Amino acid sequence: MSCNDKTPAPSNRKVYTNLAEYFLGSWQDLNQHYDYVVIGGGAYGTAFAQRMLSLSQTARVLVLEQGTVFFPDHSQNLPPSYVDAVYGAAATPWICEGDFYLAPQQPYLGGRALFWNAWVPQPRPFEFPDWPRAAVTRLNREWYPANEMLGRRFSLACAGNDNATLDAVAKNRLFAGNDSIACAVPLTTPADLESAMATGADIAPGQFAKYAPVGHLVGLAQRYPDRLKVVPLSTVTAMRAAGGRIAELELKATGGEQRTTLSVAKAQVILANNSIEAASLALTAFPDHPLLGKNLCVHNRSALTFRVPVEQFPSIADQLQVCGYYQLSQIDSQRFFHNHISVVYNPDPQQDNDLLYRILPDASSSQSLAMYQQTGYIYVLVQALGEVLGERSAESWNHVSRSGEQTIITIKAREADNKAWEIMDRSVFDIVCVLAAGAKVEYMHAPPDKPLDISWHAEPPEHICSRMVFHEAGTLWMGDNPTHSVTDIRGKMHGVANLYGTGSMLFPSPGSWNPTFTGIAMTFALARDLAQQGR
Ligand SMILES: Cc1cc2nc3c(=O)[nH]c(=O)nc-3n(C[C@H](O)[C@H](O)[C@H](O)COP(=O)(O)OP(=O)(O)OC[C@H]3O[C@@H](n4cnc5c(N)ncnc54)[C@H](O)[C@@H]3O)c2cc1C
Repeated sequence: MSCNDKTPAPSNRKVYTNLAEYFLGSWQDLNQHYDYVVIGGGAYGTAFAQRMLSLSQTARVLVLEQGTVFFPDHSQNLPPSYVDAVYGAAATPWICEGDFYLAPQQPYLGGRALFWNAWVPQPRPFEFPDWPRAAVTRLNREWYPANEMLGRRFSLACAGNDNATLDAVAKNRLFAGNDSIACAVPLTTPADLESAMATGADIAPGQFAKYAPVGHLVGLAQRYPDRLKVVPLSTVTAMRAAGGRIAELELKATGGEQRTTLSVAKAQVILANNSIEAASLALTAFPDHPLLGKNLCVHNRSALTFRVPVEQFPSIADQLQVCGYYQLSQIDSQRFFHNHISVVYNPDPQQDNDLLYRILPDASSSQSLAMYQQTGYIYVLVQALGEVLGERSAESWNHVSRSGEQTIITIKAREADNKAWEIMDRSVFDIVCVLAAGAKVEYMHAPPDKPLDISWHAEPPEHICSRMVFHEAGTLWMGDNPTHSVTDIRGKMHGVANLYGTGSMLFPSPGSWNPTFTGIAMTFALARDLAQQGR
């Protein structure tokens, strides 16, 4: 074998110890001027950077992210052997008081969107009952670009998942039985049940992948090397206010001792680090603010997995089929919940497990994957998500506070929350009846004293409600009246010239919808406003 390549052998080339070091910035980049300093490199931080850089020819953006690159992509775009990484990547830098505990954060570039964010519904106009109208209408211009960024699509059908025959039976049963589901909002066509999923931009038609911000952010850093710096391993520990502005950020190197102070008086500061962390950080600058951190709202959940023999689903093609549905219910004029439903037929587990893992809307653990292994069944996972509400006042029983450096979350279940929860439970069992259509049902659960001993039973579990809540929202809620809200409808904190929140922290009430699509649309609207202002 001969080699005529004349390229000189590399000498003294730096060997990088991790992806972040290779692709992204470092603390040296902090010495430059930035127009926008974004705290948090998750879905909303990425959306802000993307939109601002494309709308403005000159804006310089700094993204500060406390974590490094844990995964370069969504965990479900990697082999299934990574599924349990979610446990190792989880952090709960807070104390939970009250009746619930909050699902963890994922403190890495990409944030929670590394593991979740499959369901991305667009709420209908009546699902924002108490939002300022202008806050809703300004989203109209942003739905389309947000849709493009997430790569939303309305079917899980893709190469290897021709789900038409399962879809025909399941969707029609849900449509026909909708009236018998507790508090169901009427449907006009079976298509109303279709759920949009985030499959990422630039995925070839027929292929399937899940949206994740990391590659997107790395791509932006390459495209705009002079205008975007993403600096990982930078935890913002405090903010200092002076003269009606945020003047300084205190930074700590994550996992190290190094600290520095960043002057931001001439920049706009964007809190893109989610409802709990953003409120806690803002409280370092405004500890006596009467409303900041109040009105903490979350989603509670009832979940049930069941199966029925495949013979009960007539004319199903004998191949992997995965479908997802979104069924909306309304308890009263203010309160909604929804069920998201995944239906799976997996006749050849040995061949199709990897593909199934990629497609499943929520593949959360090896245990959850293991349940699809026995052939001859249709498997259904139903999750009802409902609103646990706070109050938009200083007296809110649900709130974020600080004790020294510790963040404290208080979430209590009020009578109305518990009543709503009972209805959610009922609706899950209504869906079992509708989908099983009289067939023998088996339920997956573990005995209360052996939580890991999960198996199939003829009897349903005693409880399907979970004390773990998620989709936290509302802590910097927006409004027209500065004495009754924390921010204006753009997300600018009242009375502070350069501090903005974005995403679900601004929601006055959360609705039951999964928040990311709306949060990205809001973030795009903020970037548009600021880009226009900066011209
Ligand atoms: C189990 C689960 C399932 C979910 N499923 C869905 C779904 O199907 N559909 C949907 O729409 N939503 C879903 N969500 C919610 C969704 O994940 C979040 O709404 C969305 O990812 C929020 O993005 P974010 O950028 O605000 O926050 P995050 O993803 O939390 O990102 C915030 C980033 O900020 C960083 N950060 C935090 N504090 C600091 C600091 N002080 N300094 C520097 N950096 C900091 C974090 O490390 C993180 O990277 C789910 C959430 C959970 C927990």
